[in-house]
Amino acid sequence: MSMSEFDLIKRFFTRATPGALLGVGDDAALLQVSDGNVLAVSCDMLVSGTHFFADADPYLLGHKTLAVNLSDMAAMGATPRWATLAIALPPKDGGGADEVWLDKFSAGFFALAQQHGVELIGGDTTRGPLNLCVTIIGEVPAEQALRRSGAQIGDEIWVSGSLGDAALALAHRQGLTVLSGIELAACEKALHQPQPRIALGMALRGIASSAIDISDGLLADLGHILESSNVGAQLDLLSLPVSPGVRRHFSQPLGKQCALSGGDDYELCFTAPHQRHAELLSIAAKLGLPLTPIGEIVARRECIVHDASGKPIKLETSGYDHFR
Ligand code: ADP
Ligand code: MG
Repeated sequence: MSMSEFDLIKRFFTRATPGALLGVGDDAALLQVSDGNVLAVSCDMLVSGTHFFADADPYLLGHKTLAVNLSDMAAMGATPRWATLAIALPPKDGGGADEVWLDKFSAGFFALAQQHGVELIGGDTTRGPLNLCVTIIGEVPAEQALRRSGAQIGDEIWVSGSLGDAALALAHRQGLTVLSGIELAACEKALHQPQPRIALGMALRGIASSAIDISDGLLADLGHILESSNVGAQLDLLSLPVSPGVRRHFSQPLGKQCALSGGDDYELCFTAPHQRHAELLSIAAKLGLPLTPIGEIVARRECIVHDASGKPIKLETSGYDHFR
């Protein structure tokens, strides 16, 4: 690559940052937090070959790199404000990132950033196997952050959007099933262009008793809420919101696996008292985003999923774990 590191940063990763006292270009950015708010800070890394295919569309990869981080802000009920981006780029002749790639990657990244009012205020750029790491910084009123630890016995359990589409797209790619054109389009969109549920997270302040984003599968992530809150759950398989493609696979293990344990959903799972039910349905209508009650928090510390006949179903895997 003929560009210097500094030309590259300037050309692809430097935009106006009116929401920061100081953005890209010094040794550190300077940020002012609003009165009464605390910072919500989270970091997510995407590694080539582990989180995406090396030949992934760079525009969609730019989107997803930020989207998975924004999803963590949504899960905290935070308003995302700033991001940093650390990026390792392979040399061009190693089949890696060139200017065309950087142009598309940054376009995808900034399109989503702009949509959510997020400013890129710094980062690091180096040579190495393709690796993308974002730190996201948001603000939330101190008492209203949505934690994993607040679920109460008797609360309803809700999820946004639909579950399992991204996992089903992956299953199709791996040859485990064959999707129709329409099914594949919907599932691939979920896999490559997840929509972080920022507006929902903010609407849940003061309503949800706990929340998490579903990145490793419903059972694994709900499991974190249950553990943090010291409670259990009863879920109803047929109440899970799924697309026609996932529904069509429900008679086979694959459909249930995608909905219950598939990764990369980036929907929110949250709990709220029963009295909030109607309020939540009106939030769903206002946001144009389905919110579905899928079960209830119980005292006994286990998670049971009931099938159509009310029988507990046998659960095999509980989610994606990089170290298992
Ligand atoms: P330092 O050597 O002091 O860490 P760098 O030379 O790595 O600084 O970076 C110069 C400036 O460019 C810093 O403000 C840094 O935050 C920013 N920067 C570096 N890489 C990126 C990137 N990929 N995206 C956005 N800003 C970046
Ligand atoms: Mg540096």
